[in-house]
Amino acid sequence: MFLEACAQNAGLGEPSLAELIALKAEARRVPLNAHLELTYRCNEQCVHCYCVVEHGKEREARARELTTAEIVRVLDDLAELGGLYLTLSGGEVLVRPDFFEIAAHARKAGFAYRIYTNGIGLNASRIERLAALEPLTVELSIFSADAAVHDGITRVPGSFDRLMRNVALLKAHGLRVYLKSVMMKPNIAGFADLHRLGRELGVFTHIFACEVSPRIDGPILKPRQYQLDENELVDYLGQSVLPATEPLFEGASEDIAKQRDTCGPAVNSCCIDPYGNVYPCVAFRVPLGNVREKPLRELWYAPPPAIQDLLSVKKYEDLTECSSCELIGFCKRCHGDNLLERGGSDWKSCHPHARTFASAQRRVYQIQKAGRPS
Ligand code: SF4
Ligand code: SF4
Repeated sequence: MFLEACAQNAGLGEPSLAELIALKAEARRVPLNAHLELTYRCNEQCVHCYCVVEHGKEREARARELTTAEIVRVLDDLAELGGLYLTLSGGEVLVRPDFFEIAAHARKAGFAYRIYTNGIGLNASRIERLAALEPLTVELSIFSADAAVHDGITRVPGSFDRLMRNVALLKAHGLRVYLKSVMMKPNIAGFADLHRLGRELGVFTHIFACEVSPRIDGPILKPRQYQLDENELVDYLGQSVLPATEPLFEGASEDIAKQRDTCGPAVNSCCIDPYGNVYPCVAFRVPLGNVREKPLRELWYAPPPAIQDLLSVKKYEDLTECSSCELIGFCKRCHGDNLLERGGSDWKSCHPHARTFASAQRRVYQIQKAGRPS
């Protein structure tokens, strides 16, 4: 889920143009991609969610959230710092009564912005208002083509039917709809049907992921019980409807380590949580500070020592274990996920979760390579 939400991995327009802009932003350390979490409250309670506030605790959470005026100031500050791509995310963004005001301000401030929503709080008039605000994409989670399985994951009876109705309405209003599916133990058996459903719905794109991220608070590793194990990952990644697996780089580990950049949290991205804390990205939960205490500009340009340490890691060769790892060509380590998984320390060591994925990817690659005509 972090990878799917991660600005470093987002599909943002034409690759060549996006890459060019990203390179400039990286060189100048501009927060080009901002992930703004408006609330952790939600009208669903997905079993694997990394942030949702439990039902019964919403009032307390809401009282701590940034006000509309504070969010408007954050958006203006971000725009002034050079922010261009904005993700409005939750929890569920539509539980905030001021959501449309916030989206309208994001548009006015010149952001190309994406909206993450579970879709069940939409209706015809809300979709009409949304269409008028011209978001880049509206991105909705779907877990199964089987209503009972989807509703079992969201823990809201009827959520599948409401989602289907609203996908049709969003499309009818010309909005660019992305469906996003995390494949996990409870829904993996229905992958082929879900893939087919995405095609039948004719959405702009249907993104599949298979990473289940730790929670950012409380029982950190609770969502991981839903994660596919290595053998299940091999079965999943080897399916013919998914792109063939290729190594990101080939060659000796040491040579790859020199070439490969790590992801760049706090270089050209940031994440701001509902309470004003500014993080390097959606996963790396060490704050630069809080916008209620200091202006965003100050937080961005004078990061604390822990963030300066993060900024010093640029290549895989800067990480001792990675620099000689046999899986380096397949690995997509996430410093933030590793930090959470390791209980807040030692994030430079091997990321065990990424290792499982990399190992599965390599097995699939070897199987696919052996099956190709020579
Ligand atoms: S598997 Fe571990 S040591 Fe190897 S590249 Fe990935 S994070 Fe680094
Ligand atoms: S640590 Fe890196 S890979 Fe993980 S979410 Fe942050 S930028 Fe993305």
